[in-house]
Amino acid sequence: MECEMCGKKVAKTTKIMIDGAILNVCDDCAKFGTPVIDHNKFKPVDPAIRVQLPEKPQPRTVSSPARKQVRKVNDEDLDIVEDYAELVKNAREKLAMSQADLAAKIFERKNVIASIERGELMPDLKTARKLEKILGITLVEKVS
Ligand SMILES: [Zn+2]
Repeated sequence: MECEMCGKKVAKTTKIMIDGAILNVCDDCAKFGTPVIDHNKFKPVDPAIRVQLPEKPQPRTVSSPARKQVRKVNDEDLDIVEDYAELVKNAREKLAMSQADLAAKIFERKNVIASIERGELMPDLKTARKLEKILGITLVEKVS
């Protein structure tokens, strides 16, 4: 027999697959491919295709519709206004409050207020609501 890869005459060849092609090769060349076990049934599988095989459908949890509804009321239609930083700072200064004062009132650290006023930290809905109440400003708007 002759190796289909290097042409060497050998007593026994091994069936391997290289790049989707099946070749009968010598033992030396066999290591360059994947051994073909069942040549009748073997279907070459491109590893790239294999990765894209459909994933198992994720089971949708039954609880999600109810949760989504609650979320929608609380979060999804609401957003923090873009100029929250300025609003908070101006309102606080108007009320002659220090950052520490304001922080204490909403049970946050002074750093949090400072970051909010620098525009580095967007307050979450809960914090925004507290700030609105104390400062008499509007921070939460409805998303259209
Ligand atoms: Zn060979």
